[in-house]
Amino acid sequence: MKLSTPMIIPKIVKFGGLTYKVILTENLDVGENWGRTDMGKQQIHLNKSAHPEKQMQTLIHELMHLAYSATAHILTEEQQEQIIKPWIINLFSILKQNNLLK
Ligand SMILES: [Zn+2]
Repeated sequence: MKLSTPMIIPKIVKFGGLTYKVILTENLDVGENWGRTDMGKQQIHLNKSAHPEKQMQTLIHELMHLAYSATAHILTEEQQEQIIKPWIINLFSILKQNNLLK
């Protein structure tokens, strides 16, 4: 039985006609966070030293922020976190169990 599927972190992600670069970054200056998105520079930074599964979870988390940014801006950053965080583990689990992640 395979213990775990290796995760392939994409180098770019396209969304809304824009291409975002996915960058594995050594030192994220964002406290306890595992990633950050720079909308202006179209860059998604992921913690380089994190496990690839954690990097993928973080990428999906950042993509949820990105998807939200294209909708009505009624939630604060903090409110977005409160919604995204509980979802991410289950969403990641569904994607993984159904081999939707490469
Ligand atoms: Zn977040």
